[in-house]
Amino acid sequence: MRIELRHVSKRYDAEAPSVNDLSLSVRDGELITILGPSGCGKSTTLLMIAGILPPSQGDILFDGHRVNGVLPKDRRIGMVFQNSALYPNMNVRKNIEYPLKNMGVPRKERAQRAEEAARMVQMSDYMRRKPGQLSGGQRQRIAIARAVVKRPGLLLLDEPLSSLDANLRGSMREEIRRLQKELGITTIMVTHDQEEALSMSDKIAVMNAGELQQIGTPLQLYGAPANWFVASFLGMPAMNELACAWRAGSLQLTAAGQAIPLPGAAAQELGAIREGQAMRLAFRPHQASLVTDPVHRLETDLRGRVAAVEFTGRERLVHVRIGDATVKAYAGMAESLDEHQEVAVRLAADYYVFDRESGANLRLPAASGRTEISETGDMTFAKQAAYSR
Ligand code: ADP
Ligand code: MG
Repeated sequence: MRIELRHVSKRYDAEAPSVNDLSLSVRDGELITILGPSGCGKSTTLLMIAGILPPSQGDILFDGHRVNGVLPKDRRIGMVFQNSALYPNMNVRKNIEYPLKNMGVPRKERAQRAEEAARMVQMSDYMRRKPGQLSGGQRQRIAIARAVVKRPGLLLLDEPLSSLDANLRGSMREEIRRLQKELGITTIMVTHDQEEALSMSDKIAVMNAGELQQIGTPLQLYGAPANWFVASFLGMPAMNELACAWRAGSLQLTAAGQAIPLPGAAAQELGAIREGQAMRLAFRPHQASLVTDPVHRLETDLRGRVAAVEFTGRERLVHVRIGDATVKAYAGMAESLDEHQEVAVRLAADYYVFDRESGANLRLPAASGRTEISETGDMTFAKQAAYSR
């Protein structure tokens, strides 16, 4: 099923809208996650798509037909919540069959379809258990089986894994993705967990304070974030940032006082920039390298001191103090690194510059922000090559 939201808003009361002018489309068979911090309007969006909450404004379309007034039970949807309530007195089989009973499906077909759904979530051996005799992960699997047994056109998942422990979350991620692909079912999942979104989705829609920030593939959002919010919300370890201002054609670090001349191409990309404009110079730890030997330092390197060294297994994550900020970059195991030692941080060419006030990514064309980049999901701007290495 194809889903489209057109300028959808929800206002619960007189205050600011909980969802503001949200437009997005989901193609048939796609898994899209709505990602954002608690309170940003994710569940509200999902409840509007389900038909449980009416939008205050805008239209919702399923396969091109407006469904605003259609009741939840007539929308061909299956839903799973964070703590899905199963009927405690019914065994697993009865729980899974329940929606079919409501639909008037004959007994024999009900049993068959329940078996099939249980098999898909690998719970065939538990059909006679009561929910109280299952673990949290098993209960969520039953909730998923109960949602897909109806053969819905759309699966809606609201933080389905957040009540599970870390190990189980990992395997359930894979399982949901496998099932979703097997069934070819259009799925909209809500999560506040960026790792979950990056690992499972065809596309991610990042929301903040009721507003869509960016929509695109995990690679697009990770590599070419439209703004500072998206950049800082995605990725582990987090994006490094250094406060700076534009002075005489270069980036002047505010606290360290160092001027960073931009490579020629980057200076052109930045376009119309005011003298003194406040910015954030940003880069992910893997977009920088450490230069320990003073002989090899360049004028364009950032100068700092080692504040801490974190052993991560294959590499070390080095915390470097630059002015009043700390940035992180990776170093191999061979180099000697002492605390307080002077080091240089050398940025790769694909670092980011964000406007401090608007948050906009100043190295991206303005058009690639809130709207989807292109119908085919391709990045159409020159930076694509850099991000798809
Ligand atoms: P999320 O799922 O992203 O955590 P929600 O969609 O639940 O966020 O909530 C978005 C905003 O709307 C929050 O500020 C929340 O307090 C508010 N909100 C949610 N439900 C209601 C409600 N029934 N009445 C009034 N305000 C609500
Ligand atoms: Mg929620």
